[in-house]
Amino acid sequence: MSYQRPDLRLAPSPTSESAAFWTGGRNGELLISRCHACGHFFHPPGPACWRCRSTDVAPQKVSGRATVAAFTVDRQPWIPGFEPPYIVAIVELAEEPDVRLITNVVDVEPDDMNIGLEVEVFFEDWTALSGEEDTRVWIPLFRPVTH
Ligand SMILES: [Zn+2]
Repeated sequence: MSYQRPDLRLAPSPTSESAAFWTGGRNGELLISRCHACGHFFHPPGPACWRCRSTDVAPQKVSGRATVAAFTVDRQPWIPGFEPPYIVAIVELAEEPDVRLITNVVDVEPDDMNIGLEVEVFFEDWTALSGEEDTRVWIPLFRPVTH
């Protein structure tokens, strides 16, 4: 099954804290908040590290490699233009397994999905319905690692 971009996605509205996460894909980069005090990555982005409360945090590029931790196959047409079946998954980043993203995994048949499947990020750019430049986002999606 070859992934085809849907007609519509519900694009997020980035905050100042999440803007790096939603726009890193402009340069092909998955940017995840990292604490410089304890060294851990964390997600979602926020003003302070939830582990050590340090505010010395900043987005940092990660490899984009991840492992499927959980998934569901959605067969209901909830969103016009976003046709089922599609896979909603929780993936764990290679750099820090307890950093988990909720995403779509594409380019895989639902029957071939497995916990532990290795996936890698790619980005799909969308503009929110307001059509303003500052609402353009690059949504991180994942597909099986092929090499
Ligand atoms: Zn910390």
